[in-house]
Amino acid sequence: MHPKIHEYAERLVAKFPGKLKSVCFVNSGSEANDLAMLMARLHTGNQDILSFRNAYHGMSPYTMGLTAHSTWRFPLPGVNNGLVHVMNPDPYQGIWGGSACRDSPVQTTRDCQCREGCQAGDAYYNELEETFKYSLPRGKVAAMFAESIQGVGGTVQFPKGYLKRAAALVRANGGIFVADEVQTGFGRTGDHFWGFEGHDYVPDIVTMAKGIGNGFPLAAVVTTPEIAASLGQALHFNTYGGNPMASAVGIAVLDVIEEEQLQRNSLEVGTYFLKGLAELQQRFEIVGDVRGKGLMIGVELVGNREKRTPLATPHVLEIWEKCKDLGVLFGRGGLHGNVLSLRPPLCLSIGDVEFALETLEAAFKFHMSKGPRSWRNSHMMR
Ligand code: PMP
Repeated sequence: MHPKIHEYAERLVAKFPGKLKSVCFVNSGSEANDLAMLMARLHTGNQDILSFRNAYHGMSPYTMGLTAHSTWRFPLPGVNNGLVHVMNPDPYQGIWGGSACRDSPVQTTRDCQCREGCQAGDAYYNELEETFKYSLPRGKVAAMFAESIQGVGGTVQFPKGYLKRAAALVRANGGIFVADEVQTGFGRTGDHFWGFEGHDYVPDIVTMAKGIGNGFPLAAVVTTPEIAASLGQALHFNTYGGNPMASAVGIAVLDVIEEEQLQRNSLEVGTYFLKGLAELQQRFEIVGDVRGKGLMIGVELVGNREKRTPLATPHVLEIWEKCKDLGVLFGRGGLHGNVLSLRPPLCLSIGDVEFALETLEAAFKFHMSKGPRSWRNSHMMR
C-alpha cells in the first residue's frame, strides 16, 4: 500500500543469503517468534518444536512455552503444548565444556582434553540425538529455535559447530531451523551481520527485533518464499506491522549501520572490551567467566570459582548498584541474575569502554573491601 514498505523489505532481505528473501513485518520479538512458530507448523504439518533450556524467545502465550526459564513462566495450563526443551549446550555452566569451545576472544577456565574438534560439542549433540530418539515422533518435528548467543539467559555461547549439526538433524526429521536474532542481529556480534553466520549455517527462518528499529517498535520474520506461502491457507493480518513510519525507521537504521561502520566498531570496541574484562577476571575471584563476541558480552559473577556457583543476589545487587551510582547502568541476565549483560549501543567508543572498566573495577574493590558475608542466594531478591 505504501512504497516505503517495499523499499524497506528490499533493503532488509538484501542482507540475507540464499533463499531467505520473503519478509513479514510485525511489532515485537514475541510476535516475530509467534509467527515463526505458526509458519513452521503450517509448512511442515508437524507440531513439535524444540528450544534450549535457558532460552528466551518471548512472553506471548505461544512463545512463553518456547522460553525455558522458570523466572519467566506463569503457571498456566497449555503453555508447553507441543514444545520440548533440550539440554543447553553451555560450555561454562553445563556438564561439558572446555577451554576452546567458544567462538570468543575469551574462553572458560575449564580444562580441555580436546586434540581436534570439540568433545563438549559432540557430547551435547549426542544429548540432542537422545531427545529425538526418546521424546519425539520419528521424522515429524516442526522446528527448532535457537538464539545465536543466548541473551536473557546470560550471554551463553554454544560450542563451535553445534548449531550447524543441530540444524541438519532437525531437517533430517522433517523440521525447519529458526534463528532468533533479536539480540544478535544487525552487526552486534562484530564479525558478521547475523549471529547465525558465526555458526556457519543458514537457517530456514530468521526472527529479529530490538536493534532492527533502534528502540522503535519494529520486528520481522525473514524466510523462504516456500515457507512464507504456508500463510496463504487463511488470512493473516497485522495492522501496525511494517507501517510506513516503522519502515522509514528501519531504513534509517540500516543506513546508519553502514555509514558509521557500526559492525566494524562492534568488533573492534567489543574485542577491546572483552580483553579488558578478561584482565579484571584475573584480578577478581568473583569474575567467574567473561564471554561473548563484539558488543554482545556477559560477565558471570560467582561465589566460588571452582564450583562456578552463582554469586548470591545481594552481593550482585551491591555491585550493580555501585556501578549505577558511579554512572554506568549494566543489564543483568541468567537464571540467577548473576551475569552482567552488556549490550551497549553499537556506537560505543574506546573511551566509553575505559570508563565502564574503571567503574567495574571500583565496584568490585568496594565489594571486596566490605569483607566476606554469608548471604544465601535467593530468587525472591531479584
Ligand atoms: N527473543 C529474544 C532473544 C529476546 O531477547 C527477546 C526480548 N528480550 C525476545 C525474543 C522478545 O522480544 P519482545 O520483548 O520484543 O517481545
